[in-house]
Amino acid sequence: MFLYSSYKQFTNKDIIEFLKKQGLDVKEERGNRIFPVTDKSIDVLNCFIKKLKELNIKIYLNEKVEKIIVDNIGDTKKAIAVKTDKQTIKADKIILATGGKSYPLTGSTGDGYKIAEELGHNITKIKPSLVPFEIYENDIKKELQGLSLRNVQIEFIDKTKNKTIYKDFGEMIFTHFGVSGPTILSGSAHLVRYKNIDNLLKDKKIILKIDLKPALTKEKLDERILRDFGAEKNKQFKNGLDKLLPQKLIPTIIRISKIEPQKQINNVTKIERNKIIELIKGFEIQIKDFRPIEEAIITSGGINIKEINPKTMESKIIKNLYFAGEIIDVDAYTGGFNLQIAYSTGFVAGKTN
Ligand SMILES: Cc1cc2nc3c(=O)[nH]c(=O)nc-3n(C[C@H](O)[C@H](O)[C@H](O)COP(=O)(O)OP(=O)(O)OC[C@H]3O[C@@H](n4cnc5c(N)ncnc54)[C@H](O)[C@@H]3O)c2cc1C
Repeated sequence: MFLYSSYKQFTNKDIIEFLKKQGLDVKEERGNRIFPVTDKSIDVLNCFIKKLKELNIKIYLNEKVEKIIVDNIGDTKKAIAVKTDKQTIKADKIILATGGKSYPLTGSTGDGYKIAEELGHNITKIKPSLVPFEIYENDIKKELQGLSLRNVQIEFIDKTKNKTIYKDFGEMIFTHFGVSGPTILSGSAHLVRYKNIDNLLKDKKIILKIDLKPALTKEKLDERILRDFGAEKNKQFKNGLDKLLPQKLIPTIIRISKIEPQKQINNVTKIERNKIIELIKGFEIQIKDFRPIEEAIITSGGINIKEINPKTMESKIIKNLYFAGEIIDVDAYTGGFNLQIAYSTGFVAGKTN
């Protein structure tokens, strides 16, 4: 709801239009995702630089903002200047858009939170979001790192209530520390806001359940396995899943199933087959923790939205001070939504007079 007004004032169509006007065409890829035709993010940045130059706006680079200076006029506090490590710049209006705390490599080190806090703003809890997960199972980390899965269904479950926290379909990847990839990152955005999540993770109560063959019911999967086994009757069981699963995954499935890998396929029992089906339809991993904020694509938390006017992005505490982008306590999925938040709130903050 908070973003409704700013989004309406500057939509995804508006940003595409803006880029086109600056001479940059865009293309649409899978999942309605928009990219510059050149596939280079620098070209998007250059559109903004071009526009700033056109408007004769001065850019100070390599200069760290330390503080926003405020004047007290009666009961009203008014932002009047920006103090950097090199100078003090007077301004009629100031927009604080220092980003979040994630990926500090890109310059967003969380400075803006301290600056806003000093001015009386409240910062909600800062946490990593759109971030990979560490898992408890060392065997799985060792055996499966680098394995990328497509067209799987993933489900994060709170075992204390048998409640699905998040379910998705698509891609994921195993890493040396645990799990990552688009579906996992989206799941993290839900888990970060889930009640009591830190304790649940510590108590090993958060499970990632992967359905490796979501298009097949258990019955259909059994038929498929029987068909595959029928064609390989005299082979060993360890060679019987070659057509069904990625090579890298087979030894892990066999290990967890506890079925003798050398067993002749002919001798695999129905109970053993069911065990394989259960594993393929519900491969379970225990989630240990979020990866650190340095590896998170976005920051969850930020300036409390109750302290910002959603129509103008002006601070309700300090007059003439505005906020835009990830510094605000708003975050969204991957897919361009976070960039759109930055564009829309930035537009509104910039146009307000
Ligand atoms: C690897 C990666 C991939 C991403 N992919 C996507 C994606 O596909 N889709 C999507 O929607 N979002 C994505 N995001 C998130 C998106 O980039 C951010 O949400 C968005 O850039 C936020 O914009 P912003 O202007 O608020 O902050 P930022 O882009 O972080 O910009 C903040 C700027 O403020 C500067 N700054 C900070 N402190 C100071 C200071 N004290 N003085 C002076 N300058 C300062 C920083 O140097 C930086 O240039 C991705 C992020 C990362 C890290």
